[in-house]
Amino acid sequence: MQLTDKFGRKISYLRLAVTDRCNLRCQYCMPAHGIDIVQRKELLTYKEMYRITRVLSELGVNKVRLTGGEPFVRKDFMNFLKSLSFNNKLDQINITTNGALISKHINELEELKINAINLSIDSLQKEKFAKITRRDVFLEVYKTFELLEQSNLNLKLNVVVQSGFNTDEILDFVELSKNKDISVRFIEEMPFNGKGQRVMEDEWNFNKILNHIKNKYPEVEQLSSSKSSTSVNYRVPNYKGNFGIIPAFTRTICNDCNRIRITATGMFKNCLFDGGVFNVRDFIRNGASDNELKELFIKTVHHKPENGFIAEASRGNNVSESMSTIGG
Ligand code: SAM
Ligand code: SF4
Repeated sequence: MQLTDKFGRKISYLRLAVTDRCNLRCQYCMPAHGIDIVQRKELLTYKEMYRITRVLSELGVNKVRLTGGEPFVRKDFMNFLKSLSFNNKLDQINITTNGALISKHINELEELKINAINLSIDSLQKEKFAKITRRDVFLEVYKTFELLEQSNLNLKLNVVVQSGFNTDEILDFVELSKNKDISVRFIEEMPFNGKGQRVMEDEWNFNKILNHIKNKYPEVEQLSSSKSSTSVNYRVPNYKGNFGIIPAFTRTICNDCNRIRITATGMFKNCLFDGGVFNVRDFIRNGASDNELKELFIKTVHHKPENGFIAEASRGNNVSESMSTIGG
């Protein structure tokens, strides 16, 4: 049995939000006072997350990204990682993190079956970083960056391109890939911030970001990427690392989407832009068997919307929820 939608796309990648809590307050993700976090009992337990992942892995999901909220804020997250790494149907366990709490765990992460860490770092300047994240943790995050770079973990840097805040640093980030074996990934800003679309001086979409980089580096070459890659990837010739651009908002990557999401409260999402299809947690807590869960997943994935625009149109309200509740 394999999860396939009606357009023939095979679903093999789960993004699981392990919490809705976060230690930072990134201005493109949530308001300064944070979001209304749910009661602890509404969060999936690790046991439930483990079971959901196991059932999905029996349906062909072989890659999991753990995200949030900030995954390392949740107590015992390292133990959860340890238990997940025993699932031999998973080829990849990846983590997206803001990096403020993980420097002490890096050796252990290397020993576990963790494939890649995506570290969110939107500025290389301490003051600007504090303005964007509303917390003064740049030095700790940069220390994590350096430790990760020296580790054997694959490292990707997530940079949300924010008009009026960090577009002057796009080229600095590309330059960072000169001597470091990293992938810098520029992400289009989306209105998942707890309020909705913000007014921007300029819309920094995929093409604008690429043209801006090509103005300085006309020789950039496109790299081949896996079919379901979320980013289109490039390298400045002879640079050790590379960079990619994720058209998260212009949504030109939907044709090859292989992803589903489960939020921290167990809401199953076929698409980042849909409003949630059903709550897996409630089914589990009502006693669903593994086979019933499988049937539900198969049936739901079949109706995965063709693309993010169709998903958004069918939800009946504007996207405005925080990325922290969805799991970015
Ligand atoms: N706390 C972790 C972190 O920041 O890496 C994981 C969760 S965060 C929601 C996952 C990713 O989503 C981060 O790279 C973050 O920058 C990105 N993100 C959050 N809100 C976004 C938005 N409105 N538009 C684009 N990307 C966003
Ligand atoms: Fe927290 Fe990540 Fe959202 Fe920043 S982007 S507020 S670190 S969940």
